[in-house]
Amino acid sequence: MIEKIESIKSEALNEAALIKNVDTLEQFRIKFLGRKGLVHELFEGFKDVPPQEKGRTGKALNELKQVLQEIFDSKKSELETGSAAGDDTDHTLPGRTFNKGTRHLIHQAIDEITSIFAKIGFDIYEGYELEDEFHNFDALNTPDYHPSRDMQDTFYVDSAGKDKKYLLRTHTSPGQVHVMQSNKPPIRVVVPGKVYRNEEVSSRSLAVFHQVEGLYVDKDVSFRELKGTLDYFAWEFFGKGLKTRLRPSFFPFTEPSAEMDVECILCKGEGCRVCKHTGWLEILGCGMVDPNVFKAVGYDPEEYTGFAFGMGIERTLMIKHGIPDIRIFYENDIRFLKQF
Ligand SMILES: [Zn+2]
Repeated sequence: MIEKIESIKSEALNEAALIKNVDTLEQFRIKFLGRKGLVHELFEGFKDVPPQEKGRTGKALNELKQVLQEIFDSKKSELETGSAAGDDTDHTLPGRTFNKGTRHLIHQAIDEITSIFAKIGFDIYEGYELEDEFHNFDALNTPDYHPSRDMQDTFYVDSAGKDKKYLLRTHTSPGQVHVMQSNKPPIRVVVPGKVYRNEEVSSRSLAVFHQVEGLYVDKDVSFRELKGTLDYFAWEFFGKGLKTRLRPSFFPFTEPSAEMDVECILCKGEGCRVCKHTGWLEILGCGMVDPNVFKAVGYDPEEYTGFAFGMGIERTLMIKHGIPDIRIFYENDIRFLKQF
């Protein structure tokens, strides 16, 4: 009896593999589980099993019935969900690989830069891409006659019927103004985001690009703290121990203003094509916040001082990785993107 049970079981397993549709499933059911099926026949024969074998045989018989019922149920549900219907899949084929997406290198850089500043206590603020003239220009000590307010440099938005003139922000600096208007010092914040300039697209410039802006305001903030903060950033981002230098410059919203250079990371200051044989790479603009900016947001310039800095993300990445053309960032060429 036990042998017979085993042989029916292996027969059922073989036949189960051939179930491809409702008809073959029904044939399987009739043959094994039906009222005149093989299992029924075995149960009929059970009464003739010698008493000493009844325990073992009964157990095997019940197990067989259970196994067959499970096969039937699972095949039935396979057919109902369609997973076995016409299944000619070759299960021995290797799996398909999919290209895994990653963050674009611009966003990786924004994450890296903002987290470098977060480590020394800077918060992250994301401003608005649509701004009014006050936040983008007036509050930043950029008067009416300043050339950057010209239509040729700025994308103005149709503001007919509005009491303010609206535009696409030309830098992330209006973020500073918003932060100062709604907070009291001390303030430590970095503002990353997209900015817009009405410029001809070339290998060096785009009409849309990214900046990160930083602002620190408190009592007695010194130029030395500005230099210390930016040295820390340059070493974290470009490489430990690189030489840096500040050169005098001009921005309407800082006084004094400077530009920061870092020793060329390719030639280590020897001079090469990328640094135009100067040994230096210009990485950002900075300076002490102009008292007029504090006045515009209602801070007392006698009480507070501060510093600000800003850098272009694409430009910074071009320096760091020796990328020759800014347009490459937006071409979505996977051969380029894959390298980051
Ligand atoms: Zn160089």
